[in-house]
Amino acid sequence: MVCEHQIKTMKIGLVTYTPEKVEGYHLHVYYSKWADGQAFPAAKDMQNDITVFCDAKSIRDDPGIVAVSKAGAALRKNRHFNLPFDYVCPTHPGYRTKVLEYIETVSKQSILGVTLNLYHFPDQEFCTCPRCTELHRKSGLDWTAWRSQTITKFLEEAKAKVKGTFAVEIYPDPVLAKERFGIDLDAISELVDYFHVPLSSRDYLTNYWVDLLARDFVAVLKKPVVVELSAEMPTDEKLDALLKTVAYISRHKIEEVLLLVHNSENARDVCRFAIQNNAFRDWLKKYDFPEMSRIIEEWAKIY
Ligand SMILES: [Zn+2]
Repeated sequence: MVCEHQIKTMKIGLVTYTPEKVEGYHLHVYYSKWADGQAFPAAKDMQNDITVFCDAKSIRDDPGIVAVSKAGAALRKNRHFNLPFDYVCPTHPGYRTKVLEYIETVSKQSILGVTLNLYHFPDQEFCTCPRCTELHRKSGLDWTAWRSQTITKFLEEAKAKVKGTFAVEIYPDPVLAKERFGIDLDAISELVDYFHVPLSSRDYLTNYWVDLLARDFVAVLKKPVVVELSAEMPTDEKLDALLKTVAYISRHKIEEVLLLVHNSENARDVCRFAIQNNAFRDWLKKYDFPEMSRIIEEWAKIY
């Protein structure tokens, strides 16, 4: 059952809202700018994750910056679309300057690097504001080519501000990323050190889709792949399902699994739960998950 691409050591890291390292975890990714518009000082020695074009606060302050389409604005309340956040138009010059300045400020601190998320168009129908319409017309390119070039060029500009590791999150669509969101996976792979793929869920009691998408992204992306799973789990049953999901994807060629936690105590609870869960540890041995067993043995030395 061992996948031929399996790498020798998979690591486990964290995505966290607190700028604090937790023993037993490797890469620490700190959310320094959120989709609601809040922005925080950089977290030292950590990967700082910055939300780019989703900024509810900036849109409230200046509604004219929102991305638009024939079916209305890119806002959660517009039910013509199924949008998880409110999106700024990616060509708005004032907003771009503001977010690039923030990226530069964060990069001046002694950080590990920067990860960008939500740096793309909200969907295929966006953006048809007069500025985007004119830029598209002048480019002479078709709609998909112009939109993906716009996003790739923004990432080039952002990368120039960043010292250290440069990564992007990938909206979890390996098939229509370019057509829908302007995410050109091949062009972006030239720019990044690794791809961060969030496969978030309230629980992983049904988990085949995580295994499936993790394999798809490993097959499609031309740089190392890091997968993020949600670990804000209130029940033993859900934690057990999460850890089994991590075990399954440890069979693919993934650099690291990142667990999204509320705080450091949440991260330590995951370690303690795994160590004390003898049925799970027996299950790992019975079905041959050596990487996951090794990780839990290392946690057991700490907790
Ligand atoms: Zn626009």
